[in-house]
Amino acid sequence: MSPPSEPILRFAPSPNGRLHLGHAYSALFTARCAERLGGRVLLRIEDTDRARCKPEFTEAIFADLRWLGLDWPEPVWRQSERLPAYAGAAQRLRDMGLLYPCFCSRTEIAAAATAADPDGAPIYPGTCRHLPTAESARRLAAGEAAQWRLHGAAAIDRAGVLTYTAAQPWPWDRPQIRYARPDSWGDVVLVRKDAPASYHLSVVVDDAAQGITHVTRGRDMEPSTDVHVLLQFLLGLRSPLYTFHKLILDNAGRKLAKSKGSPSLAELRAQGWTADDVKRELGFG
Ligand code: GLU
Repeated sequence: MSPPSEPILRFAPSPNGRLHLGHAYSALFTARCAERLGGRVLLRIEDTDRARCKPEFTEAIFADLRWLGLDWPEPVWRQSERLPAYAGAAQRLRDMGLLYPCFCSRTEIAAAATAADPDGAPIYPGTCRHLPTAESARRLAAGEAAQWRLHGAAAIDRAGVLTYTAAQPWPWDRPQIRYARPDSWGDVVLVRKDAPASYHLSVVVDDAAQGITHVTRGRDMEPSTDVHVLLQFLLGLRSPLYTFHKLILDNAGRKLAKSKGSPSLAELRAQGWTADDVKRELGFG
């Protein structure tokens, strides 16, 4: 494979609420990286979670980003329209013997788990990993809902030592080779009960399909990158370069979140903030 000629970056929000200053920072940071690299930024709507994502939030994302003065090429990819691609990738992993169906409920997992993953969620205790194939097949045939998990240990075994390249955003020419350590996640869900996708699978499939060369994301997503690098290896996809930006914190030192009452850009706008005020506040003035 020859190296891609033009840097392609992406801003990939999930329309499960209104954008706040943390999103604005990420979007502006990505735009600045693209400008310095002489590349462009794609906007991708990560809306596979049907329970939480709403079309009105997607429309609001467009409006908020335009208000910030950002622009992007059309058409904008919406992950809800890409489900067959994720199903295809999942099937490849199934054919490699690396996915297994899991029938456990959240409560069962929480009760049996003994450790937490980097996001603080219980690590799957592996209950269904050892189900006899005939029993899984019978339960699936009977219509029992299942999510499909990656057999983490088997996948890591197959991959061996994995590395990826991360860099400070500017200059990008001081790359750092890092070891990926996906073992801290256990057996992640790659196919949810309600969609043939999960965040980890769809992001990896789409970054490759869109030819993304540089991924810019918050430091809180550094650990998930290890899972992504593993999936890229298994699916034979090129790993982009990564950079992790700082997080915007509230007065209590917590990452901004709608659930913690962080004001949305729309609320700030209603209070009289201009787009320039936002940029200045975030250091892009
Ligand atoms: N969709 C993810 C989010 O809203 C970010 C995408 C990524 O960097 O993988 O947090």
